[in-house]
Amino acid sequence: MNFNSHTDAVVAMFVTLVNVLTPGERRGRPYAVPSGPELAAEVAAALRERGEIAEADVAELAGYAADLRAAFSGDHDLACTVINQVLDATDARPHLSGHDGEPWHLHFHGTTGTWAANWVASGATALAIVLGGEFHDRLGVCTADRCDRVFVDVSRNGTRRFCSTACQNRTKTAAFRARV
Ligand SMILES: [Zn+2]
Repeated sequence: MNFNSHTDAVVAMFVTLVNVLTPGERRGRPYAVPSGPELAAEVAAALRERGEIAEADVAELAGYAADLRAAFSGDHDLACTVINQVLDATDARPHLSGHDGEPWHLHFHGTTGTWAANWVASGATALAIVLGGEFHDRLGVCTADRCDRVFVDVSRNGTRRFCSTACQNRTKTAAFRARV
């Protein structure tokens, strides 16, 4: 499965980012969004940013978390409607970039100029490319008990149901226990 390599990479980053920024349940336990420097560090790791991220930037990014999560809801109409709103809000527009010795590739920065809006424009565009294509059902929410983390299914046959092997194993163990 390969939408295109840049899109794949950005979608993977936003899977991690949405899971960091949205509260709920994670692998059988409650998940609360961390705060302060811990949250900034997790956001930086998700987006592979080396520098420190300002708290205001993290807060601006977090404001889009619920909307970005809608892309994974499995409700295709809702996902497309909400992601369109995010594209409008961040003023996403295509821009070919050949920075840092990389081959030319397409970026989708916003034009509002803020760090968060640039990232969200980029992420929303990558999600829009998936949602607008034949593999739109590859974005999902973990089906394990007490887990609502999101994932992208890049498997060949597209049958992924869990956010992680941890949840897959938990579910298998529970099914086995139910049988004996
Ligand atoms: Zn899970």
